[in-house]
Amino acid sequence: MATILVVEDEPDAAEMLAFNLRGAGHEVSLVEDGGKGLKVAQTTRPDLLILDYMLPTMSGPEVCRALRAEPATQDIPVIMLTARAEETDRVKGFECGADDYVTKPFSMRELMLRVQSMLKRRLPSPTSGQQLKAGELLVDLANQTATIQGEEVRLTSTELKLLTMLIRAGGQAVPRQQLLTDVWQYAADSDTRTVDSHIKRLRAKLGPLAHYVETVQGIGYRLAPGSPE
Ligand code: CA
Repeated sequence: MATILVVEDEPDAAEMLAFNLRGAGHEVSLVEDGGKGLKVAQTTRPDLLILDYMLPTMSGPEVCRALRAEPATQDIPVIMLTARAEETDRVKGFECGADDYVTKPFSMRELMLRVQSMLKRRLPSPTSGQQLKAGELLVDLANQTATIQGEEVRLTSTELKLLTMLIRAGGQAVPRQQLLTDVWQYAADSDTRTVDSHIKRLRAKLGPLAHYVETVQGIGYRLAPGSPE
């Protein structure tokens, strides 16, 4: 199945996660502090990282930011766990580059669904081999890469899926809610700010083509490959 690294300092929570993930057929490593977690992630490059927010030696967001800063580790999918539901933490979690966010206490069933959804994103889509083009932007679904005039844009699997959905909409606005349910498989009434923070990062990575991703007030986003206004 997949290799999953769990960085969690609460032994009960860590054991429970490992038990369930192993039960689902995954290979699980447990680490109880942030600094060690970063080192293990860098050396083993797991298929998925489940990262607690509050950790000894290095916080979850610090670990996440360090991983995102290195080309070798920047696309490791990260699910961040937190005991605190405050909005600022949620926002910080996404700003550091986490792909998904689960607030404690969470149901193991919900977490397993998020894990499944995240792992599915790395598999080639049914249309693999296909290339999607929008203006100067090219997405290769088989290789899971995006390029601008031949130069690769390093996107996480979540960002790539988001971009793919926008390209496939062919210039039509895609509602935030739809992006949330299709990319993250969240319930339809979940908080759509998840989408906004990922769009923000996607734009930053698209650099000169950032204007391709247009905000459609009150609806969501659309991809409009044209010159900026
Ligand atoms: Ca903790």
